[in-house]
Amino acid sequence: MGRRLYIETFGCQMNVLDTQLVLGQLRAQGYQVVDTPDDADIVLYNTCSVREHAEQKVWSRLGELRATKQQRPNLVIGVIGCMAEREGTGLFRRYPHVNILCGPAELDKLPAMLHNAVVTSAKPSDTDHVSHSGRRRQVALMASTTRRSSTLAATDDHLENLDLSRSVSSTDDVSQAYVRITRGCNKFCTYCVVPYTRGPEVHRPPQNIIDEVIKLADAGAREVTLLGQTVNHYAYRHPDARVTSFADLLYRIHEATPALPRLRFVTSFPRDFTDAALQAMRDCPRICHYLHIPAQSGSDRILKLMNRGYTARQYLDLIDRAKSMMPDISLATDFIVGFPTETEDDHRRSMDLLRYCRFKNSFIFKYSPRPGTIAIDRFEDDVPEPDKRRRNNELLAVQQEVSAENNRQMIGKRVEVIIEGESKLTSRQAKADPSFVDLTIAGNKPAHPHLSPTVTQLIARTRGDQIVCVDGGPFLKGQLLRVQITDSQSLTLFGKLIAD
Ligand code: SF4
Repeated sequence: MGRRLYIETFGCQMNVLDTQLVLGQLRAQGYQVVDTPDDADIVLYNTCSVREHAEQKVWSRLGELRATKQQRPNLVIGVIGCMAEREGTGLFRRYPHVNILCGPAELDKLPAMLHNAVVTSAKPSDTDHVSHSGRRRQVALMASTTRRSSTLAATDDHLENLDLSRSVSSTDDVSQAYVRITRGCNKFCTYCVVPYTRGPEVHRPPQNIIDEVIKLADAGAREVTLLGQTVNHYAYRHPDARVTSFADLLYRIHEATPALPRLRFVTSFPRDFTDAALQAMRDCPRICHYLHIPAQSGSDRILKLMNRGYTARQYLDLIDRAKSMMPDISLATDFIVGFPTETEDDHRRSMDLLRYCRFKNSFIFKYSPRPGTIAIDRFEDDVPEPDKRRRNNELLAVQQEVSAENNRQMIGKRVEVIIEGESKLTSRQAKADPSFVDLTIAGNKPAHPHLSPTVTQLIARTRGDQIVCVDGGPFLKGQLLRVQITDSQSLTLFGKLIAD
């Protein structure tokens, strides 16, 4: 039997994709994926450093494994992703039972590292890290020169091999798939650790991307999401100096995959959005009219401190251009509240921006200084926690108002959805939305008019990324269907399946 591997993923879609690619390689080498650390010979955590909360969860998981490792010294424990890169080998001092440290820009090395950690009994050299079980520690982190450089030649991009190795088997669920188009980031927003953990921005060769999307479409993908930290900044310079822009790439993928019903992309950077890219969205009917485009603040002063490179006016102009080209466009954003020196006036500007743009939803975060960022060195975290909390709640309240109005306007409309699977709404949504109606089936009777005791409640997603609850069977997962919207709440739409 192959070695048994447990992997848990934290953070963004990029990490989800990294995990999928790593698992593809390891499965091909005979590793068997299991559902719990207790059943595993190898435990990997694919980590995120963007928020403190995600890091704390990993520290707690590693703490829990300390006793397990004492009972099972052959257990191999690996920390991969952004925390590995940010913490470096200092992590071994705090957690000596960890065997593997692999940054996100080095994941192509992971199969060899695992092999060495599990199999090799070679005597460690003086320079090797040795864990307390006597195994050689495996470390792959970005060279500091690479980390500081803002350019990386495509030929140096060894990580391309990880994406190229992607295999899609008939048993894989590829109905909604991710394809990376850029890696890393050169923006250096002052609060963000990503440029230091994922390294300089690299743009993948367009033909590699197109081939990957074709492969997924042929395997039955219904929706492909192109990924990049600043996805719309994509511009590939060919050896003959021709440039494939983001707009060019969208047109080429759209043309090459006529059977792919949905193409989308995240996350967009406001300053980089060209009219050509908006036109490509408008002209290609299978590109979803949806933009996740983080604003972060409505105050020019705060945007400058964040090093975002645009003003609130420029952001609003972009939204106006997008809406005038695609009146049905659906928008989502991110805000950080309580950034150092943020005043009530700055906060009011963020609320004004939210009201003006009428986002479908906003991901709102309280600022917390992250180790390794510019902001932690340059600015005092001077907005008191109660003010951060209140501003967070105020922004959330405005968003809920806007979302509820947006959703009410959807009632009666007929829209296409992709069925994502069974609803986890009762537990998750109830926490996030105080107005949420509990849908639990009580005593075999539906607690909500949309839920029958004989059917499952499913989660579906519109082309504009709105979540719709519909009744149906789990066998519908991955299908594109039409629904009529019958009801709404601030975070959710309710609908019924219709024939046309
Ligand atoms: S654009 Fe800014 S926030 Fe986004 S990954 Fe790059 S540095 Fe971080």
